[in-house]
Order: sequence, then structure tokens, then C-alpha cells
Amino acid sequence: MISERVRNITPSATLGLTTRVNQLKQEGITVIALNVGEPDFGTPENICAAGIKAIENQKTKYTTVSGINELREAICAKLKRDNGLNYEPSQITVGTGAKQTLINCILTLIDPGDEVIIPKPCWVSYIEMVKLAGGVPVFVACKEDEEFALDIEAVKAAITPKTKAVLFNTPNNPTGAVYSEESLRQLAALAEEHDFYLIADEVYEKLIYDGYKHFSVASVSEDAYNRTVIINGISKAYSMTGWRIGFAAGPKDVIKGMNSLQGHATSNASSISQYAAVEAFNGPQESIELMRQEFYKRLQYVLGRLRAMPGVTCAGSHGAFYLVPNVKSFYGKSYNGKVIKDSFDLSDYLLDEARIALVPGAAFEAPDNLRISYSNSMENLTKALDQMEAALAKLK
Ligand code: PMP
Ligand code: GLU
Repeated sequence: MISERVRNITPSATLGLTTRVNQLKQEGITVIALNVGEPDFGTPENICAAGIKAIENQKTKYTTVSGINELREAICAKLKRDNGLNYEPSQITVGTGAKQTLINCILTLIDPGDEVIIPKPCWVSYIEMVKLAGGVPVFVACKEDEEFALDIEAVKAAITPKTKAVLFNTPNNPTGAVYSEESLRQLAALAEEHDFYLIADEVYEKLIYDGYKHFSVASVSEDAYNRTVIINGISKAYSMTGWRIGFAAGPKDVIKGMNSLQGHATSNASSISQYAAVEAFNGPQESIELMRQEFYKRLQYVLGRLRAMPGVTCAGSHGAFYLVPNVKSFYGKSYNGKVIKDSFDLSDYLLDEARIALVPGAAFEAPDNLRISYSNSMENLTKALDQMEAALAKLK
């Protein structure tokens, strides 16, 4: 029998739906994928060229576990430039995507029984990663009518002597919320008072709209800096999800622990991708702004369409490329004898009936919602929203 550890985890709902959509496509069925968790743009050419050059130059061997020096230096420069933070290369570790870096961090910090506070809605993998470490996820709800802003009072109420860390993501997947500087300052003050770590997932840092600003909690104070592990990467900012490079910046002892773990797991991230990542951080940055502007147009369009659909409400969003329309008014309704009980049923119904894929909100601890990704062409978004509206109208 497989281990209890693995029996206890739920497979990734986001990746599961991607597999289903790909199967349908292989069967010749056209599905518009609004479930995608990656930018629909190509990787910029200068970055691809750096990857090709790395292969031509035989940069094809194991690297230092924590990543090549050039890349860790480029990451330090990025953290200084974008976040006003001073790190040295020994405080940086590079992994196979932010996802692996994050699980390395959680396994390094969390002992069985430790509690990890997670503001919800939250990304699917946080929950399972904490469980894999034997930790206990403790959810604190962010309110939909406050656009899912970080609720500091709720965090405060959830703190116990077993709280080891708060794990959060701003800009947020799935809500698109951008946590305010003020709320992050309050969070840092709580961390200092109650002595816990802050794990700050900043992978959507570059995708922010409406004049909102990204603020890194590590920049609050020396204390906050010393208890924060920043998780970031290149997947979303440079449209490089398949290259699998992420990084963490944090206290030396934590980074050292993460490197020990990685040394027995993957050794190092792909050498070729690491060289491409150096170019991503050090090369021209214009592609980010072009992508951001395109996403912003889509956000405004999709939000307007969702809000105009009978029975749907939708909180505003100022970051990432997701929205979480509230669809609970459809629960209990049915079509052709099939009753829609929850977000899983509604997601299935929309896939079967409208041929569009949206992730059930329950996977993100948002059972009243679906997650829609607007990482798709305007043409597809228009078609998909027409199909969604028509299918929802059939539910009685
Ligand atoms: N954190 C969040 C919130 C994400 O949505 C993702 C995307 N999968 C990741 C981390 C991991 O990104 P990657 O492993 O591609 O760097
Ligand atoms: N982060 C993306 C998402 O939430 C990619 C898929 C995944 O890694 O879960 O859809």
C-alpha cells in the first residue's frame, strides 16, 4: 500500500483539469481553457537565445545545488532593484520552479504539528505542501466584499503557540487581491510579537493593475527581513513556466537547510534554464509591461462581462490573471435532471455543456466561486463568456 503521507493528499485540481482538457482536445473536442495557470505569451526571444547558447556552450552539467553564481547574483540585483532589499548570494537558493522552492521551504521550516496560517482563498498546493510536512493548515478567511484583502484581525485570532508561519501570496492566486503595505506592516508586527516566520509567495509581483503597488513584507524592518522567506520565480513574469526556475531569498540558516534538502532531491535546477534565467533578470524588461497591459485589457473585459451575467457577482481584482466569480446562486439548480450541488458540479457542467474549463473554487477554499483565468486571446475570451452565459441561463 502507498504511504499514508501520499494517501492523505489531494491531487492538484489545477493540473488535473489541464490533463482533462488536453484529453478532450486529443479527442477532437474544442474546449476553451479558462483554467490555465500560465501566461499565454511566448518566452521573449533574448531569453530563448540565452538558453540555446547555454546548450551550444555545453552548459549541460550539474551545477552548485543552490544555483550558478551568475544567477544568484542576478537575483540579488533584482531584489535590490525591484524590492529595495539587500541579499547576498548565500541567502538565495534556486529550485525547479517556485513550486519546488516552496516545498523545500515548508519541509525546512515545518515540524509535525506545527500550524501554518494561510489566508484563504489560497493556491491549491499550499494546503497539500503543509500536510506533506506533517503541519496543520489553519485557514483565515479574506472577505469577498473587501476584494479579499488580507484580514489582519482574522490572522490575529488564528495565532496560537503552535503557529510556525504565515504562508501567503500577493498578488493572489486565485483572487487577484494585492495586499496593502499597511496590512503587511501589521502582519510583520504580529510575526515579531508572536515569533513566527513569514513565507511570502511573490510570483505574480509583476502583474499588477489600477496603480496598485507590490510591497514585499521583508522590507518592513530588520526583524521582518530576518523572519521572511521570499518565494519568487520567472514563470509568470517572463512567461517561462516550462523552464522550471524559481528561487527563495531568506535567512542564511533556512536557505542552507533548503539546500541540504534539495541536494538529496533534485541536486539542482536545469543548468540550461538557469542560464536563460540570468538573461531574464539582467536583460531588457520591456516584455513584462507589454504583457501586463494586455492582461489589463482582458481583466476589464472579463470582469465587465461576468458582472453583467444574471446570477453572477464578481469581486474586483488588481493583480495576477485570475478572477473568482461567485456562482453560488446556481447551486441547487439543474439541467436535464442533473442537479448542480457545488463548484465541482458547476465546473463539470460548464465543461460538458459550454466546452469551457474553469477550476472549481472549492480547490482554493472558495466553495462559492469558480476560478477563471483570462490568460487567453480576446477572441477566445469573448466566445467562452458567450458560451458560459448561455449555459448558466439554462440552469433552472
Ligand atoms: N505560487 C503560486 C501562487 C502559483 O500560482 C504558482 C504557479 N503554479 C507557483 C507558486 C509556482 O510557480 P512555478 O513553479 O511555475 O515557478
Ligand atoms: N499556478 C498555476 C495555477 O494555479 C499553475 C498550475 C499549478 O501549478 O497548480 O493554475
